[in-house]
Amino acid sequence: MSPIELNKRQDMILQIVKDNGPITGEQIADRLNLTRATLRPDLAILTMAGFLDARPRVGYFYAGKKNSVSITESMMNLKVSDFQSSPVIVSENMSVYEAILHMFSEDVGTLFVGDKHECLQGVLSRKDLLRTSIGSQDLNKIPVHIIMTRMPNIAYCTNEESLIKAANKLIEREIDSLPVVKETEYGPKIVGRLTKTSITRAFISLAETSEL
Ligand code: ADP
Repeated sequence: MSPIELNKRQDMILQIVKDNGPITGEQIADRLNLTRATLRPDLAILTMAGFLDARPRVGYFYAGKKNSVSITESMMNLKVSDFQSSPVIVSENMSVYEAILHMFSEDVGTLFVGDKHECLQGVLSRKDLLRTSIGSQDLNKIPVHIIMTRMPNIAYCTNEESLIKAANKLIEREIDSLPVVKETEYGPKIVGRLTKTSITRAFISLAETSEL
């Protein structure tokens, strides 16, 4: 068992919940002048470490349990939903040229290709676009569906999945990111993006919370 040591922000969250709980994540974020998304990893760690309890539609309240969770257990409890970022979705008819501009303007390393319901059709990586650019073809005339990696060959994950399971997929498939999907009547809808950066962020959160 490794004792848990909280970082400054987690201490502040704990104090706010002790004084004001039950309180929603949104309200905690407001008090700290931060966004809910920024606080998500801290809230996840405080909850799984047993300091806080969360009840749907009620909010967080202080549970008071301390130093009872090992770093391994903390790690196993991290979920994709706590560390994912926003997906950038393009249509299969977008030209490779436009897709390259999009990748730069949106500052992401992978674009997801979705249909009109934003259901997953394909993935475009930096090298997919770079490879196509090496030829002398007119990039304005090549739609991305010609070059994308397509379903059913795409590795993806869901919000509820453990971060470790998703990280394993990144390593096994030797890829940089996974679309996060939600099953709908039209197929798997793209709702997020889980990247190597997401995993790095989780790694740092664990280090900040745990005394090794
Ligand atoms: P890069 O090609 O820039 O090194 P990746 O390692 O992520 O980036 O991608 C390698 C190849 O795998 C590319 O052809 C890409 O289309 C494909 N790919 C990327 N992400 C996935 C995924 N989640 N599932 C299946 N294939 C993917």
